[in-house]
Amino acid sequence: MSFADVIISITHKNVDKIFNYIIPDAMKSQLCVGMRVLVPFGKGNKTYEGYVIGFSDGIRVPFDKLKAIISILDKYPVFSENTIMLAKFMKEKYYSTLSECLRCIMPSIVKDKVKRYVYLNRKKEGFQELFDKCVSKNNLQSKVLEFLSEFDGTAVGEIKMLLEINLAPITALEKKGLVQIFDREVKRDVLDFSYVKKTTPFVPTDEQKSAIDFILNKFYTKDVKPVLIHGVTGSGKTEVYLRIIDVVLKEGKQAIVLVPEISLTPQTVNRFMSRFGKLVSVTHSRLSAGERFDQWKKAREGEISVMIGPRSAVFTPFSKLGAIIIDEEHEHTYKSETTPKYDVREVACEIGRICGSITVFGSATPDISTYYKTQTGEFDLVTINNRVNKSFPEINVVDMRRELENGNKSVFSEALLNAVEDNLLNKRQTILFLNRRGYSTFVSCRKCGYVMECKDCNVSYTYHLSNNRLICHYCGKTVSNPETCPQCGSKYIKYFGAGTQKIEEETKKMFPEARTLRMDLDTTSGKNAHENILKKFASGEADILIGTQMIAKGLDFPNVSVVGVIAADMSLNSGDFKCAENTFQMLTQVAGRAGRAALKGKVFIQTYNPEHYSIEFAKNNDYLSFYNHEITVRKQLVYPPFSHIFFIMFVSKNEKKIIKALFKLLDIMIKFNKNNQFEHIGPSPASISKIKNQYRWKIIVKGALEKNLRNYVLYCLDRLSESYDLSGININITLNPVYIM
Ligand code: ADP
Ligand code: ZN
Ligand code: ZN
Repeated sequence: MSFADVIISITHKNVDKIFNYIIPDAMKSQLCVGMRVLVPFGKGNKTYEGYVIGFSDGIRVPFDKLKAIISILDKYPVFSENTIMLAKFMKEKYYSTLSECLRCIMPSIVKDKVKRYVYLNRKKEGFQELFDKCVSKNNLQSKVLEFLSEFDGTAVGEIKMLLEINLAPITALEKKGLVQIFDREVKRDVLDFSYVKKTTPFVPTDEQKSAIDFILNKFYTKDVKPVLIHGVTGSGKTEVYLRIIDVVLKEGKQAIVLVPEISLTPQTVNRFMSRFGKLVSVTHSRLSAGERFDQWKKAREGEISVMIGPRSAVFTPFSKLGAIIIDEEHEHTYKSETTPKYDVREVACEIGRICGSITVFGSATPDISTYYKTQTGEFDLVTINNRVNKSFPEINVVDMRRELENGNKSVFSEALLNAVEDNLLNKRQTILFLNRRGYSTFVSCRKCGYVMECKDCNVSYTYHLSNNRLICHYCGKTVSNPETCPQCGSKYIKYFGAGTQKIEEETKKMFPEARTLRMDLDTTSGKNAHENILKKFASGEADILIGTQMIAKGLDFPNVSVVGVIAADMSLNSGDFKCAENTFQMLTQVAGRAGRAALKGKVFIQTYNPEHYSIEFAKNNDYLSFYNHEITVRKQLVYPPFSHIFFIMFVSKNEKKIIKALFKLLDIMIKFNKNNQFEHIGPSPASISKIKNQYRWKIIVKGALEKNLRNYVLYCLDRLSESYDLSGININITLNPVYIM
């Protein structure tokens, strides 16, 4: 006798285990691992959705206590044995339940889209006679028959539209037995291939060729160790991906290409469509749930072989996966911010291990932690040092302290102003870029560039308008806002806070004749707003595009020859230990936008801190020196990759209660901190300290070994819940979050 092993779709620790259910005889031939079922659960036998993850012969519960499956929800399995393995990995790694992980991996299931098709019923006895009789009258039924004799098997909707009739004549013919109507499942297409021309591959450069050979060798030898392609912007990484996928497909396998949502432009997808034709599909959040589900089904049924998409595309159910490629691997969006808070790069590597496929990372500015893995041997490394077109834009670093000295108090330096003016005269386009992340505002001296920062944590203080104080968002230390600069005594010490809107106003004032476009969170909330703005700019409807980091990614505008970074300091002083890395990445990517086409691009980086290593190395396009400098800093301060950082955030309406609870947690943590393996920082208010009347405070815990750190944190939280009433407190834990919380 066999029973179904079922995971119940309830998010609770106590329910996160396998439950056995009786399989009613009628379901036995139908039920498979990977199907969803409805089951009774708990004392009241409420009905819940469950996932069948296996079958077992013996059971641990008394037989009379067993309950039976109510019904099966799927026609075919929606997840595989491999999926279950992956879900188990994610459950361990991201502190979530198995059902949360399964739900994350599975698509949202949508009813199949079915169309009704009309066919002539030629097998009917005496068909021809009846047909001839009917056709000879000139009425609507004969019109339908004539149409079908040429286009047998047309959808009902199309016949109605083309013949301008209603359903009546078709049903009448069905009654007479002259036609039959069949339901057929249709899968929606999401790409338009009509305008795509097939392209032939470029002859690879020597550097491209050695990258391709190296990676293909891994593919043929089933070497699952991930490989990083470090290739400068414009070095032809995409061409390398295309070549690899070409071989993967020829060997009968399939490939997933992950790109950040923001770079998933028609331009990008086109390059894949024009090489592999209809084997390509995409999935992304702008598609409807039905469209996404259809792409998932196409992959599952082998109708396509290349899936392109952001994070969630990693879960594409290919049965013969050969490669996962992660472009722009340093992108923050590869980490999910909702439970399970997975890092798609880690998930891709795990899938590689499970399926025996290769995992390829690519970036011009690899994540410091990823590059570190190539140094420890965890990853392989291939490097492409040269741009295909060999030209690199001219990068000017503008010292804004000198501007103030010369009496220029505007946000534009003299040099940038002149360049934009020239550009307008020459009918060329300009991008002005303002990196402002979240709500953080720092305090700096406009005269000498001094920035107020917490010396314990090596991050900038954040200015809080409400009490006019500065706070460190790591350790929670606060200091008063100084009136004069502690370094040079100047009174030009101020908080920094221009937004894109302000820059747009200033731009309009300076260049009244210029047409401007603004792209930030405010102007891109609509469905296609983002694309529409870019389209307008590409078609020359504006001279100047002003925007946040959104515009730094993967865009290719041949007529742009000036790029201005209004204040590199904004990302440099974001109050995060990764700020140097973020700044280097941002500047390198922005510079990459300018030198693409035939026009020699000019980049202006305005800053109060021109000597900062992230700016100097970005100016020289020197990732390796930047990496070597940064990794030394990280080592000294024991930041990742030399440690893991846990953020434990408590959220509640009652601020006093969460502060008290966190101090209690701190006591417990200190008590169980054997050999001082772990370092605690805080409690401190979260960087957004209150949302919708809910206060947010946090403790940060650092430790060298991820597993020990996790066990320690979870253990201490358990002890806290035993000794302290945590009701009304929401606990949010994140390992190595993208942004400080
Ligand atoms: P990356 O992804 O590294 O930024 P791309 O793949 O976009 O670089 O390549 C930059 C440009 O060079 C593209 O326009 C691409 O079509 C072109 N390109 C790539 N490889 C070659 C090659 N071997 N020969 C000629 N042009 C190439
Ligand atoms: Zn100063
Ligand atoms: Zn601090």
